[in-house]
Amino acid sequence: MSPPQTAARARPFRDGLLRLDPPRLLGSHCPACGTTAFPSRTFCPRCRAGDGLVETELGVEGRVHSFTVVRQAPPGVEVPYVLAQVDLPADDVRLMARVVGVAPEEVVLDMPVTLELAPFGTAEDGTVLLGHRFTAAAEVAR
Ligand SMILES: [Zn+2]
Repeated sequence: MSPPQTAARARPFRDGLLRLDPPRLLGSHCPACGTTAFPSRTFCPRCRAGDGLVETELGVEGRVHSFTVVRQAPPGVEVPYVLAQVDLPADDVRLMARVVGVAPEEVVLDMPVTLELAPFGTAEDGTVLLGHRFTAAAEVAR
C-alpha cells in the first residue's frame, strides 16, 4: 500500500509537536532516567538533566485517564466536545487532547483511543495547520 499524496500543503500547527506521515506525536526522551515527556522539553521534568534528551515518536494507542465535557466555548467552536487526559501506556506519558468519534455521554474512563491528526486552522499562506486529537477505538485498527 503506497502512502496517499496530500493535495493541499499541511504542516503541524506548532513546530516540533508532531510528524505527519505517519501521524506521530513527538516527545523528548531522557536517557539518564528513562522519562519521556510531551510536548518535547529542553530538560528532563523528572531528573532535570539538560543534556542528551532525544526526540522520540510516541505510541498512537491511548487510554482515557479522565475527561470533561466542554459545553461553552468561544464563538466558532462547536460544543459540546470532550477534553480528556489521555495516557499513552507505551511511553508512560499523559497528555491533554480532545476525544472524538463517540458522543460525549458515551466516553468512559479507560476507554481505548487512537491518535489522529485533524485540521486545526489555516496559516496566512493557505497551508493547512494540523493538530492532534484521539478517536475512540471501537477496535484496534492497526
Ligand atoms: Zn531524566
